Amino acid sequence: MTRRRRIYEGKAKVLFEGPEPGTLVQYFKDDATAFNNQKHGIITGKGVLNNRISEYLMMRLADIGIPTHFVRRLNMREQLVREVEIIPVEVVVRNIAAGSLVKRYGLKEGQQLPRSIVEYYYKSDELGDPMCSEEHITAFGWANTQDIDDILSMSLRINDYLSGLFLGVGLRLVDFKLEFGRLYSEDDMRIVLADEISPDNCRLWDAKSNEKMDKDRFRQDLGGVKEAYQEVARRLGILPDGGNLDMKGPKTIQ
Ligand code: UDP
Repeated sequence: MTRRRRIYEGKAKVLFEGPEPGTLVQYFKDDATAFNNQKHGIITGKGVLNNRISEYLMMRLADIGIPTHFVRRLNMREQLVREVEIIPVEVVVRNIAAGSLVKRYGLKEGQQLPRSIVEYYYKSDELGDPMCSEEHITAFGWANTQDIDDILSMSLRINDYLSGLFLGVGLRLVDFKLEFGRLYSEDDMRIVLADEISPDNCRLWDAKSNEKMDKDRFRQDLGGVKEAYQEVARRLGILPDGGNLDMKGPKTIQ
């Protein structure tokens, strides 16, 4: 990975120049951050697990016709993705009250919402990702109304599909965050799902015990973070044989 040009370094991932034009290599780190970067930690093996989990979920979503940036997993910590222009809006879909929704509206954590709620946040670390509306998104030119229609319909479809997929393995999909990007080809542009889908950006609770199986274990110092991520991967049937993960990686498996 040192041979490649580093394009961007985020909190949990690094993007490198890909092997062909229009591609990038997405490298998953073990770093975890919370509360707008105020809390930082290393969860050994998290990157390996998130690479696998995100690969699996992106492939399942592609199976139902959701366009994504994912091309293929390269090794334990890296995946090949298509280069997209990220739309600076984080889309949060919620099914059960948790996190900032509970604080903002004085709800009880765990309360089933009367229907799924979609929220938008402007992607800006300096500003602490302020919540925004369709009005802000179109007025400030982050996306147009057609883009927002596509994003909203894809987000709701993703929510329905993933809620069922996770419930099938005994996990409740409480809420999650998505990012979308513009994929340009020839003279055409389409919006595709980008970033990652993993326990770093989903809340997943055990369907029976309501035990938290996601990054809230890190945010709230509950311990057993890696074990929870590993259990999510195990239930999805994607732990490598014997559950023996190379926590250091990367190791080419092709
Ligand atoms: N989320 C995320 N990145 C962010 C903010 C939120 O991945 O910058 C995810 C978070 O993991 C949760 C959902 O979006 O699954 C809703 O998060 P919430 O608004 O409740 O904020 P939090 O309490 O996580 O700060």
